[in-house]
Formats: sequence, structure tokens, C-alpha cells
Amino acid sequence: MEKVYVSKTASRGIAVAKIYKYEELDLSPVQCKIPEQDKEGQVSQFLDARESVRAELEKLAVTNEIFSAHLEMVMDFTLEDSVKSKINNDAENAESAVSEAIAEVAAVFEMMDDEYMKERAADIQDVGKRLMAQLKGVQLPDIGNLQEEAIILAKDLFPSDTVKINTDYVKGIITEEGGVTSHVSIIAKNLGIPTLVGVKGILGKLNTGDTVCMDAGEGVIIISPEEAVLNEYKQKKQEYEDEKQRLEKLRDKPVITKDGKKISLCVNVGNAEDIERALPVKMDGVGLFRSELLYMENTHFPTEEEQFQVYKRAAELCTQELTIRTLDIGGDKELPYFEFEKEDNPFLGWRAIRISLDMKEMFKEQLRAILRASAFGNVRIMFPMIISVEELREAKAVVEECKKELREEGKEFCENIETGMMMETPASVLLAEEFAKEADFFSIGTNDLTQYLLAVDRGNKKIADKYSYFHPAVLSAIKHIIDAAHKENIKAGMCGEMAGDVKAAEILLGYGLDEFSMSAGSVDYIREELLKLTGNI
Ligand code: PEP
Ligand code: MG
Repeated sequence: MEKVYVSKTASRGIAVAKIYKYEELDLSPVQCKIPEQDKEGQVSQFLDARESVRAELEKLAVTNEIFSAHLEMVMDFTLEDSVKSKINNDAENAESAVSEAIAEVAAVFEMMDDEYMKERAADIQDVGKRLMAQLKGVQLPDIGNLQEEAIILAKDLFPSDTVKINTDYVKGIITEEGGVTSHVSIIAKNLGIPTLVGVKGILGKLNTGDTVCMDAGEGVIIISPEEAVLNEYKQKKQEYEDEKQRLEKLRDKPVITKDGKKISLCVNVGNAEDIERALPVKMDGVGLFRSELLYMENTHFPTEEEQFQVYKRAAELCTQELTIRTLDIGGDKELPYFEFEKEDNPFLGWRAIRISLDMKEMFKEQLRAILRASAFGNVRIMFPMIISVEELREAKAVVEECKKELREEGKEFCENIETGMMMETPASVLLAEEFAKEADFFSIGTNDLTQYLLAVDRGNKKIADKYSYFHPAVLSAIKHIIDAAHKENIKAGMCGEMAGDVKAAEILLGYGLDEFSMSAGSVDYIREELLKLTGNI
């Protein structure tokens, strides 16, 4: 018996089953330099392979949105140009040209600091695997062939693997690579499969047929458990499933305080698919739509029309409040198609609303898209990183300018659309009373607020023990923001990580927070805690 402790839980739950080791095919390219007369043939081979992949992905995209994104990636003209150039200019064969071109695109994503963007590299690698399998004339392994209950063990799982997961047989997932925002994590969470990712060295410890107990919530894997441990985990699994059922039964219960105030439970999302996946938890809306992901996953600044389509779909999916935050780029978030000047202190530099106000035409494209989407649902606009009332006024003035244009063009939008702001800078705390007179709502961004108030970088592991939203300075700032909002009769929400922390719920409820916005996976737990605290269960 051996115990392995893991820090990255992608999806909670307990599993007891035998391992099925999902081995990857060797798709490394056979490299050779090609003579001039073969170049055309190699380009055709690439185009034929791409055509087959396009057809495969088109079928898959009907039932799963992830593959629409893959379809765009495989048809992207920069990928095509890059492959053709490697064949024509560097005399590479199609296999190595594709392999290199894919690796280059993936590297751009991997270099980003943002975890979510980093993990988009897996998507482009997935597309690469399909192209390579076509070029080599081999079939990719298929998880869908599993015939008995198992815990899948793999280096990583790609979207094309995860769509084939049959929950009758797949009882758990363990991967050596990947992060908690990777597709495998998102899909596993959605399917309710206990999943641990980024378990270094685990492939060397386990083989197909080995019995394993895993508690993904606790981050424990037990290899070859003794009889007593096996029984203990079977019992735990039953208890966990009972708890899940209990939580699911609470989904229709609203959280109402003794004095009759309804507390909203919302979700944070990065795209429309996240909203779709979150719907089963029965949230009260979207408290934070991080629009920057739309910019970061693109090859160009998304146009008004491209953005409109995304926001419209989001508004239609989310029948309640949909809070779209305008571009929050800069700091650790970069764009693959836009060169940021090197800054000594990027978190204190040209980022978020500062960029939007400097690049007004781009800002207007986004605002016009959001405004047009407001004709399809209860859309709100939220500005990030505001530090002065002038900045808020300037941003609101651009909204008015866009409204005027749309009116003149006869395009529909909601005239009374609410405009609010993130409360995530020390200046916003100190000026909260002033802001509350001009904003329609507040949303407290504890992730940045904590780092700026405590002067502790939110991503620096060396000082991670100093980064705490329970620090009295942060708590006092939160209380101050909520009080200022209520004085002016506007609502104070929170979309930083603290809102999804069960340990913080009592304090925040006591402070009078109106809206808790968090990742979809946390909603059931916060709901239960708030229902208990308000005496509703
Ligand atoms: C925050 O700062 O708390 C927040 C929600 O925004 P982000 O994490 O995207 O900076
Ligand atoms: Mg922030």
C-alpha cells in the first residue's frame, strides 16, 4: 500500500476501482529534408489531412462546442501559412512542418502567465494530434472502448478523449499533467467524475489492473490498498454521494435572510460554454464574465460582430443577470497578436480600463457589442481596475457615445443598462462613497484587492503565506465597500475567490454582501452554508 498526496483537485469525489492506463500513440514526426519537386506533394498531403480533420471536427462540433474552437484552430490561416512556409522555404516534409508549426502556436499559449490561457495550449496540441494521426494514417486510441469500471490514468487527456467518456465505466481520472482549468478538469467536473490532475510521477507508479482508492477532494491516492482501507473508502464514497444528492436537493431553495433580503448566488465564467455547463447548479446569474478570454484566444482583436455573437449567446443562455466585464488585459494577461511594451511593474502598469480608455476605438467595439447583446437578456457592464471617479465617468461617457450611435443606426439595446465597477484597488475602497453615487453596482475583486492592499503579489509562491483575504485590512476594506454601497442603495457583490470560500461565507453574510459570485463548482457548498447561516435549513 502506498499513499500519494496531490495538490490539484480538478473535480471532487471518491473512487475505488482498477486502473486503466491510457497510453498515447507515438505521433512524433519522421523527419527528412525533401527535394524541390516533392514540395507540392507535401503541401497537398497537409491540405488533405487538414480536410479530413475538418470533416471530423465538424461532426463533433454539432454536440460539443469545444470542437468549434478546434475547427477554427485547424483552419486558421496562420497555421496554414506556417506549415506551407516550412515545406516550401525550409524543405521540411509535411509531418515535421505540422509538428513544428503546432508546437510554435502551443508555445505562445504556454508562455502566458494566466493559467487558463496556458492550458489552451492543450487544445492546439489536440488539433495537432489529429493532423499527425491523419498524416501517419493511424487511428487515435479510443477511451470509448472501455467495457468495465475503471479509473483512467493518463499523461493528459485531450478534449477528443474526454468527449468519449462514458460515466458508467469511468469512475475516476488521474493525469500526470494538466491544470485545474484544463478541459479535462472542466469536463470531469461537469460529469461529476472525481479527478486529480498534475500528479507528477504517477505514471511510473501504476499499471493497468492495479487497484486504487482516490479521494479527489482531499487530494489522496492510495495504491494497492489493504482490505480495511478499501472498505473504508467504499463507505466514504457512499457518504460522499449521499452528500452530493443532499446538496443537489437544495438547488431550488433561495437564500433569504431573516430580514427578508435575497442573497444572489452567481457564477464566474470565461465564455458562453461555461454558462451552459453551470446551468445545472441553478445560479442566480453571472456575476463576472471575464471578456478578456475572448481576446486572448483570438488571433486578432475580436470585431464588434464577433463579440456580439458571443455575448448574445451568453445572454440567451443566462436568463438572469449577466455581468460582462470589459477587457481586463495587461498585468499577467497578454495578447498573442499585440505587443505590450515591457514594464517594470506590469501589475501597476498599463492594464484593464487604462488600456480601454487609451484605445478608444477598440473599447467602443466591445461596448457596442455588449450593448447590442443587452437586447437579448439582462446584461450589465462592469469596468475593471478603476481608481478615480473621472475614470468611471470617462468610461460611462464612452458607453453613452456608443448608445447614441446605435440609436442613430436603429440598432436595439437596453437603454437602462446598468454600469458598475470592480472594487479591486485601494483607491476604490477609499473613494467608495463617491463611486457609489455614480456606479449602478459594485463587485469586489478580492484577488487583486488583496494583492494591492497588502502589497503581496498574488502569483508569487514565496510570499503566498502572506496573501490572505482574511487579513484585517482586507476585511475592513470589504466592510467599508459594502457599507458605502448600501448608503447609496446600490448592491455590493463579490467575484474574487473569497466569495467561493465556505470559511468566509459567515463574515461576508454578516457584512451584508448582496451577491456571491464564484466558480460553478463552489455554488452548492456556498448555498448550503448560507442556507444554514440564515436558518433556512
Ligand atoms: C479579482 O481581482 O478579484 C477578480 C475577480 O478579477 P481577476 O481575478 O480576473 O483579476
Ligand atoms: Mg482583478
